[in-house]
Amino acid sequence: MKKTSTIALLASVCFFGMQAVELLFEQETYEKLKAKIVTQFEGKVPYEWSETATGVVSTLGTSDKVIALTCDACGSKTDGYDKELIDFLIKENVPATLFINARWIDKNPTIFKELAANPLFEIESHGMEHKPCSVNGNSIYGLQGTKSPAEVVDEVEKNGLKIALLTGRKPKYYRSGTAFYDEVAVQIVSELGYKVIGFSVLGDKGATLNANEVEKAFLTSENGSIIICHFNRPEKETGAGLRRAIPKLKEKGFTFVKLEEYLSPTSLAT
Ligand SMILES: [Zn+2]
Repeated sequence: MKKTSTIALLASVCFFGMQAVELLFEQETYEKLKAKIVTQFEGKVPYEWSETATGVVSTLGTSDKVIALTCDACGSKTDGYDKELIDFLIKENVPATLFINARWIDKNPTIFKELAANPLFEIESHGMEHKPCSVNGNSIYGLQGTKSPAEVVDEVEKNGLKIALLTGRKPKYYRSGTAFYDEVAVQIVSELGYKVIGFSVLGDKGATLNANEVEKAFLTSENGSIIICHFNRPEKETGAGLRRAIPKLKEKGFTFVKLEEYLSPTSLAT
């Protein structure tokens, strides 16, 4: 799926500020894309429902001594900003991929722009409403998933376009709310041009682990691991555990990388 014209349009919106005209055209492009996806996927019945559904990328697939640290901001009511965690990454020069939900962006517009402007961080999409990624409304942890291919498109692509509009760079990767998927929904996300990113190290279990547990989890990392944790819960102990673990992982010889350094865009589904 070629989306060059959409991206070019978004860039021109940022550059010229001709928002009304450009966004009108953008809407038309969007509706056509959505109709195409619906035609292609309507009626397909999924048989998987998990964090490792077919098509989800859980590691970097390399024997290099590298780790991808991924930190999510979910956009729920209790969300905040773990400035200490982010400041530590900056101080230690640790690159990270940040999966950010649209609602978090709306609550933290200035911080979002600062993060996006920092080359240490790669901004990726964590959806519009933090919904599990389903074509038939599957639920997990009490969260209702998307109910149809059309809803999957809205949940994924609207935040992708929002981030592109704000940063001039369209996300390449997607992680759903809860990181749960069915395999048909994963195919839709691929068709939209994103790689679906899971994890191999459950770093903070939804920000519920204490500092010791977070440290212990991080230290299970292997070559090519993808760690998942959260930077939206400053009151929790994710940051404390991360600050203990990262120097130890560096001592072991690991280098931290962003997803886009290892998961090349040319390997994206087309
Ligand atoms: Zn989340």
